[in-house]
Amino acid sequence: MLVELYKDLCKNERWYNAYCSTGEKSNGKIFFFFNTNYRKLLSFEEGYYVLKNVENVERSSWEHSSSHGQEIEKQHTVNMLKSKIFSKNANVYYRSKKGFAYSDMLAKDFSYDEKWLMTYLTILNGYFANVPNYIFERTKVILKMMEERGVSREAYTKLLKNFINTYENHSNNNIFESDYLFFDTFYQNFEGIDFLKLFLEASEEERKELKLYVAEQRKDRVATKKQIDTISYKYKSTGSYTRATLIDNAKIQYFTLLIMDGTYSDYQEFYQSVTEKFRQLYPSINVHEILSFIENHKSVYELIFNELFGNVQYSLNFGRKEDETVSDQSVDLDQRIDDTEAEAVNTYHKVSTVLKNLAKANSNYKCELEDFFDCQYFTSKESHKHYVEVHHLIPRAVGNDFESSIEVVENYVTLCPKCHRLVHLGEDVERKPALHYLYLKRHEKLKERGLDITEKQLKKYYLIEE
Ligand SMILES: [Zn+2]
Ligand SMILES: [Zn+2]
Repeated sequence: MLVELYKDLCKNERWYNAYCSTGEKSNGKIFFFFNTNYRKLLSFEEGYYVLKNVENVERSSWEHSSSHGQEIEKQHTVNMLKSKIFSKNANVYYRSKKGFAYSDMLAKDFSYDEKWLMTYLTILNGYFANVPNYIFERTKVILKMMEERGVSREAYTKLLKNFINTYENHSNNNIFESDYLFFDTFYQNFEGIDFLKLFLEASEEERKELKLYVAEQRKDRVATKKQIDTISYKYKSTGSYTRATLIDNAKIQYFTLLIMDGTYSDYQEFYQSVTEKFRQLYPSINVHEILSFIENHKSVYELIFNELFGNVQYSLNFGRKEDETVSDQSVDLDQRIDDTEAEAVNTYHKVSTVLKNLAKANSNYKCELEDFFDCQYFTSKESHKHYVEVHHLIPRAVGNDFESSIEVVENYVTLCPKCHRLVHLGEDVERKPALHYLYLKRHEKLKERGLDITEKQLKKYYLIEE
């Protein structure tokens, strides 16, 4: 019986903890920007205001809490940087162009639903958990997990929609009766035990029994006491994972599934389409107000659209044209580029073209992994030298994590096309030694430019498991 199996699994401490904990290595959360400090999507607002209090204030003079000794603002820095609402320079946090757009949005008289939609749109190109366009990418991963269990995209979308419709505005409904709760909890299997699959294969009767049991457990126990039941402990009302988190998880996945595979001729068509889909669930939103707000902050929202749909290349540009040589040498190489608005892309392009050419010349048109791999060269018809490409050692997408600009020649690595593809596309066992070698070669120089990074962190950026 399903419920008996469930009780047995709960006795397995590792299984129990894996699903309760919202830590990085556990299965406890679907989206990695939800944690103790972010129980719902609109917690971004709270985080924003906290950090805004210390905007342009040297971090060394941030106040420390008397109870836990940490800076009060610390818990919000990661989400604010990874959503690119704030950036930092030396020890000072400041608002990006996107941050100013976000604060204009908060200052407007938007309703809860309108604010929810705008927050969702604003963070769509964030790089949470070091994954650019995190929300789209993560939703794809979850969808794949569902499809592997025989749940079609259509069925999953429908489940999410039903869950939102049934539970969002009915606080007294028993959320333990919903199937989605079990999807949200057990979306990932644990060391070969796929509880969600067993749940799906069980009869309606068995599922009902399990749901009743969990609901009973929740009633009987004190929230602060560690319980013997995974679900009721995880969703205890005082915990870091609440009903609001569940609702927002479902909403984020639902809207993402509706919009991520669309083809849009431009940003306007995209935002019109999203807003229209959103209006179907929330008819009272003012579509006109939202679209005119986006139009007024076009440079920010156009870039978000371009990043989401691949019109801005962050990683490997296998372009047909070789990097051009710049005639305009007047570009300021030391500026910190605010990459949250569309115009910045031109500046970025200018700076990086100069730096790429500099990096190639410094390497004498040789691959920097030459001591390590068999490099393959051909002669470029444009430069009449080895055709080489330039790679950002610290990936461009995570630049906002750093206090200094990563657009410095020390961060530009010259590679032959084969090694470049390897660094991006190779198996971890092959990428790891290459990365280790490049790290040893560069980390001192990077440090001198204010880019102090450990090898462990670098590996995380490449999503290489330790
Ligand atoms: Zn090479
Ligand atoms: Zn690259």
